Amino acid sequence: MQIRDVRTPFLATPSVAAGGRKAAEASAEPQDSLQLMGTWERNKLESVRAEAAALKPSLGEFEPGEVIVKVQDGMGLTEDFAGDYGCAVAEKYEMPRSLFKEFSGEMMRLRLPEGMKTEEAICMMKRDPRIAYVVPNNVYHLEESKTANPTPNDLDPKLWGLNNTGQDGGKAGASIHAPEAWNISTGKRQSEGGPLIAVIDTGVDYNHPDLKNNLWTNPGEIPGDGIDNDGNGVIDDVHGYNAYLDNGNPMDGHSHGTHCAGTIAAEGNNGTGVVGVNWQATILPVKIFSDGGRTTTDAILRGILYATKMGARVTSNSWGGGAANDAIKDALQTSPALHIFAAGNDGKNNDSRPTYPANYDIPNIVAVAATDNKDQIASFSNYGRTTVDVAAPGVGIYSTVPNEGYGLKSGTSMATPHVSGMAGLIVSAHPELTNDQLKQRLIGSSDRVQGLSNMTVSKGRVNLGRAIETDNVAPAAPNDLKVVNAGPNGVTLSWTATGDDGWCGTPSSYEVRYSDKPIVDSNPGEQQVGFEDATLVATELPQATGTIESADIKLQPSQESRTMYAGLKIIDNVGNRSELRTVTIEVPATPPPPPQPAPPTP
Ligand code: CA
Ligand code: CA
Repeated sequence: MQIRDVRTPFLATPSVAAGGRKAAEASAEPQDSLQLMGTWERNKLESVRAEAAALKPSLGEFEPGEVIVKVQDGMGLTEDFAGDYGCAVAEKYEMPRSLFKEFSGEMMRLRLPEGMKTEEAICMMKRDPRIAYVVPNNVYHLEESKTANPTPNDLDPKLWGLNNTGQDGGKAGASIHAPEAWNISTGKRQSEGGPLIAVIDTGVDYNHPDLKNNLWTNPGEIPGDGIDNDGNGVIDDVHGYNAYLDNGNPMDGHSHGTHCAGTIAAEGNNGTGVVGVNWQATILPVKIFSDGGRTTTDAILRGILYATKMGARVTSNSWGGGAANDAIKDALQTSPALHIFAAGNDGKNNDSRPTYPANYDIPNIVAVAATDNKDQIASFSNYGRTTVDVAAPGVGIYSTVPNEGYGLKSGTSMATPHVSGMAGLIVSAHPELTNDQLKQRLIGSSDRVQGLSNMTVSKGRVNLGRAIETDNVAPAAPNDLKVVNAGPNGVTLSWTATGDDGWCGTPSSYEVRYSDKPIVDSNPGEQQVGFEDATLVATELPQATGTIESADIKLQPSQESRTMYAGLKIIDNVGNRSELRTVTIEVPATPPPPPQPAPPTP
């Protein structure tokens, strides 16, 4: 049989053949009942019952009460065949003429009489010399993963920040969507190529049963010999560094750091306590605070520099609120790590009243606001539509505390380790990502939430399931970028919304830039400017594919008319960018002032 090579799929026309559905069913109607079958058929049915029961498991999922049969060519009227089994012809499949020879027969879907099971019909009919085959009307599904998300045995229902199903009066989905991400990765230790995640905080209880297997151990240090064996400047730093006291013991006498560490990576599926964003990870405890919760810049600098020296890929920083400090800023921006920082707990707008270090305008800082289990900004959380990058769960967060304990805490301090854990899990799956790409994923994959639209750059709450996905399809670039209005003070551009993957889905953001020179994607010539170097314009979030979008460019008025240039790129949740689209803008001159009335004659 060569059916698969034929251009017209042979099931493409499931219409009823000559005679029509009604005629076929009408003719079969009086026989559509087991009672009308002859004694011979009923005995036959009895004789296959055991065989049919044995066959059933091999048939897969099927529509009950139906079979599809192919009747051999030259075997006469197919209605006769159906009638012999008390079946009604539900449908005959019209074969293209060109297929007729190869197909050689007729195919139809039969409705079985009451009391006859699919598997019984198959057992009886397959012995009938008139047919080529008989098969169930099997059910098929789209190729979506039907496997359940891996669920660890320690996903306590109190962990709404990881998985919110609406428990405790929360809003289902108002979480980081960790189970979706765990399909892709549950995290990796450094020995398996995973990242080193520094928790720069009050230390970590490195004996905690839910943390100890996910903590860094210095391979070059011999415990307790009073010697700096690995020559990194700290004696006996077996499980991290106490930068506050400048020694090798980062034990947490406070509980804040231990709580943060548990959110990032309490060991998963170990039958105890809780699970972190990462089931497996390598956490580097760096204690910069005293057990009373106090610190100074010198300890902070020692801590950041130690984390950098030991190779941290991500640092988690649930602290801040002091003055701007160039030394701290310098230590952070020269570190190759991505630094996740709490936005602060003063309930204020960081755009107008900055909180440091979260507010440093350096590319490897991600500032985090806190949300509650209803996807609302936490009452205490700082926010800022241009200075706070993302929002994450931070109210009533359950995690590890010292001495084998567990407890609830709230704060942007608790939101931060959710994002640090996300950054760690994402680079476990995609180790090649740059800091810019990683930050873009955290922001761009957020779920937009109405009440957060003016609170963060992301206009929403982080979503790890979306942030970790593999997506190599860039958004399409629209073909209709144009100027819809141009005045001396500004212009309006418009275009049609495309999608996340080509024209499908909704992308994460638009990037509109303008210049007085023609804009090119790369290698600008003498009289050109590269897209990245043109002036950025504030834009709204993308809407559904096909929506007409617009952006306003404000300009300083000029007495001369001039030519300007604008460019547009579209960016998706993982940072894929569309091709560049450009447009030329003719900006009119400011009209001359109206003539002054002549001064009154005295
Ligand atoms: Ca050492
Ligand atoms: Ca656990």
